[in-house]
Amino acid sequence: MLRCMTQSPTPREIIEALVAIPTVSRDSNLACIEFIRDHLARHGVASTLVESDDGRKANLFATVGPMVEGGVVLSGHTDVVPVDDQDWDTDPFQVVEKEARLYGRGTCDMKSFYAIALALLPEMQNLKRPIHFALSYDEEVGCLGAPALIEALTAAVPAPEAVIVGEPTMMRVVKAHKSIFRFHTRVTGHEAHSSQPHRGVSAVMVAGRLINWMHERQRRCAFEARPACTFEPPHASLHCGVVQGGTATNIMAHHCEFDSDFRSLPGEDARTYFEELQAFAREVVEPEMQAIAPDTGIEFRVDACVPAFEAEEDEAAVALVKRLTGQNDLESVSYGAEAGQFQQAGHSVVMCGPGSIDQAHQPNEYISLDQVEAGTAFTRRLIDYLS
Ligand SMILES: [Zn+2]
Repeated sequence: MLRCMTQSPTPREIIEALVAIPTVSRDSNLACIEFIRDHLARHGVASTLVESDDGRKANLFATVGPMVEGGVVLSGHTDVVPVDDQDWDTDPFQVVEKEARLYGRGTCDMKSFYAIALALLPEMQNLKRPIHFALSYDEEVGCLGAPALIEALTAAVPAPEAVIVGEPTMMRVVKAHKSIFRFHTRVTGHEAHSSQPHRGVSAVMVAGRLINWMHERQRRCAFEARPACTFEPPHASLHCGVVQGGTATNIMAHHCEFDSDFRSLPGEDARTYFEELQAFAREVVEPEMQAIAPDTGIEFRVDACVPAFEAEEDEAAVALVKRLTGQNDLESVSYGAEAGQFQQAGHSVVMCGPGSIDQAHQPNEYISLDQVEAGTAFTRRLIDYLS
């Protein structure tokens, strides 16, 4: 049950309410979307929902102020990462304050950013140019909700001046993020006794070769990295995070599956590394497998492809957020986000939001009250700028 809220809740009250609605990516986010839609409606703001194909999830966009060009889009995601197997000191879905920090899943990544803006709705009465909310689902599982949201928003509202993606940057100005390319690999081997390697094909051993290829390819990327690159690390990462396969130590495995995630720099395409891996599989590994057993093979399935993001130093969104934060330094981050998708749709984009990425996805995730205040001051300056 949602707590009954006062007419003008504070940023903190909205953070508490949003965290209390669990929105782990695998589950529906509709309760959260309804809460936000009701809150906007109480301030006379209509929302548009862009639903997922199965209707279990929805994106939301809404415009506060006049429907004119030159507004600012505040972009956030409603979903959060799971808390399974994480050792939390407190209930992750109940905000707890300790040592001037608010603990809870999503406090930092990234419910506070738009909770603050929602709390400041009463201060948006005199906007001459609009603030558009753009809230997505399934960001944490490969930015799957954003494309339909961005398409619908771009078609529905007059061209905005800037899109601010409020991922936790400690209110620093971030002008670039890496791409994400996620895929699943399924290896089918041929069972035989482990002492008879000439008679069988171990799917686990084949998976090991493919995973080692990623390791070696990443080393080459590191070796070839440009010293001037501002990313940490200054090269693409090629990572396998989950492997499942095999039956027993003395059986050459019939099956092995694994999930990988490649992240590349702006200006290169993670798909290129994937294509190199596929070529290695098709031209080198599969012929060797099939020479022993023709029923063996390797299949790939692409799960997510999120473009990288890089803004020009003098473009509208960057200039605006530099001015609002009083900062001149621009940073690059290695995690992926929705900024590249907005940029591909033709928008000027920048990333800036409260909280630190160091606390994101962790047990005992928190946002400091300082950062909530900094985010609030930033949003007020944005409202002034547009009023
Ligand atoms: Zn996030």
